[in-house]
Amino acid sequence: MRQCLFCDNRANSKEDIWPKWLIALLKPQTPIVGYIGQDELSHNSPRVVSRCACKTCNNGWMSKLETANIPLVGCLAQDISTPLDMLQQFTIAQWAMKTTMAFASINLTTHGGWFTLEERHGLRALSRLPVRSSVWLGRYSGSGRIGSESHTIQYAIPGDGIADGYACTLLVGHLMLQVFALHVPVEKEDHRTPFGVPWNVGDWERLLVQIFPSRIPLARWPPPDSISNFNVLAGRFSLSRAVRAASRRRPK
Ligand SMILES: [Zn+2]
Repeated sequence: MRQCLFCDNRANSKEDIWPKWLIALLKPQTPIVGYIGQDELSHNSPRVVSRCACKTCNNGWMSKLETANIPLVGCLAQDISTPLDMLQQFTIAQWAMKTTMAFASINLTTHGGWFTLEERHGLRALSRLPVRSSVWLGRYSGSGRIGSESHTIQYAIPGDGIADGYACTLLVGHLMLQVFALHVPVEKEDHRTPFGVPWNVGDWERLLVQIFPSRIPLARWPPPDSISNFNVLAGRFSLSRAVRAASRRRPK
C-alpha cells in the first residue's frame, strides 16, 4: 500500500503536480520537462500526475493552498509586478515546498523521496517548512515554459560528517522558484553549528528574492535583474565544497 506523502492515509488520489489552472493560464509552448538527477521526466502532455496523496489531503489543505496561490503564483508567472507581504511570501513558499516534495517522491527509490516523514507531515499538519530550508523567487526573461530540475548534493561538514542537500528549481512562465533543503547528521543538529551552504558566485542579491525564511516585511517581485538561463539558477549549489553532486541534465 502506497502511503500519502503528507499523512498516514493510503495514497488514493492522483495529484496534478503542475496544477491545471497554471497550465490553462500559461499554455506552455513546449512539452513540460523535468529532471531529477539524470532521470528525465518528459511529458508530451502538460499533465504530470502522481499518485502521491490521499483524497483528504488533495481535496483539503492542498486544494486550499492552490486556491491561495492562484492570484500570487498566477500574477508572478504572468510577469505582473507584485509586492508580497510576509503572509504572501509564506504562502508561495509553502506551494513551492509542496511541489518540490511531490517531485522528490516521483522517482527516488525510497517512497516519500528525499524529505523525511516528519518534514512532509509537518507541512500538512503545522504549515511548517523543513528546519533547514530556504525558498527564493527569480524572474525568468523568457516565457511560455514550465519545467523543473532537482538534484541532491552532499557537503562535507567542517570537522567531520556529511550534510545532504536537495535543490529543486521550478519554472512557471516568468517565475522561477528555488527550494533548497539540508539534512545534517543528528549529532550535528545538537551543536547548533551554523552550516552555511555555499553557492556559485553570482549576483544573487539582484537576481533573487528570498521569501523563506522571509527577510523583509514587504518583498518586491520582480527582483532588479532577470535570469535568461534556467541552468544558471538550477546549478547554483554545485560547487567546490560539494563532495558529491548528482550529475545534472537540465532543460536547455
Ligand atoms: Zn494525506
